[in-house]
Amino acid sequence: MRKLLLATNNAGKVREYRLLLKGSPFEIVTPAEQGLALEVDETADTYEQNASLKAVAFAEAGGMLALADDSGLEVDALGGAPGPRAARFAGEGADDRQRVALLLSKVEGVPWEKRTARFVCVIALAAPGERPCLFRGECEGYISLEPHGRGGFGYDPVFYLPVFCRTMAELSMEEKNRVSHRAAAAREMLRALSAGAVG
Ligand code: IMP
Repeated sequence: MRKLLLATNNAGKVREYRLLLKGSPFEIVTPAEQGLALEVDETADTYEQNASLKAVAFAEAGGMLALADDSGLEVDALGGAPGPRAARFAGEGADDRQRVALLLSKVEGVPWEKRTARFVCVIALAAPGERPCLFRGECEGYISLEPHGRGGFGYDPVFYLPVFCRTMAELSMEEKNRVSHRAAAAREMLRALSAGAVG
């Protein structure tokens, strides 16, 4: 089986990709399993550029096919913020709870119909010495009035999905993987791989 390096240290993303890529022709490996301690600064302003930077750096360092994911949350009432900078929204040292609290404070008083938002995920897939391929997925929802649920990670407790009448953090991982931005991007990637377009 061909190895696929998941170019992330985010445990939430690793859990989701292991399930999303189950049944794919890859053996999923993580940087820690390969003894790779690599930090790639997300210096660019777009998901595509940040995902590409990470995928290329990990493919070179690991000498194997690497998958990087850059994701973010776009809140319409905040003009699309936090966007690709979602991880640094509340400053460098902040945790998920602080980011969620800051987000809720910024949309306080915004009426329900104007609390629309979307998660965006761009996957970059790169083989050593080659240009990366890019796949994008989006998921539409609303910023809830308060956090609900313990599943998922990041902004999931405040991302309300009308079709489930629940937040993403209240879904099982199987349910999240049916509708998420990451699942949509992964489906595109698997389609391209099985069509022989990449890899
Ligand atoms: P990055 O792709 O690791 O840079 O993530 C950007 C920010 O979006 C981080 O704060 C993540 O926690 C958050 N994020 C990314 N994907 C998800 C998700 O699936 N659910 C909730 N938050 C997410």
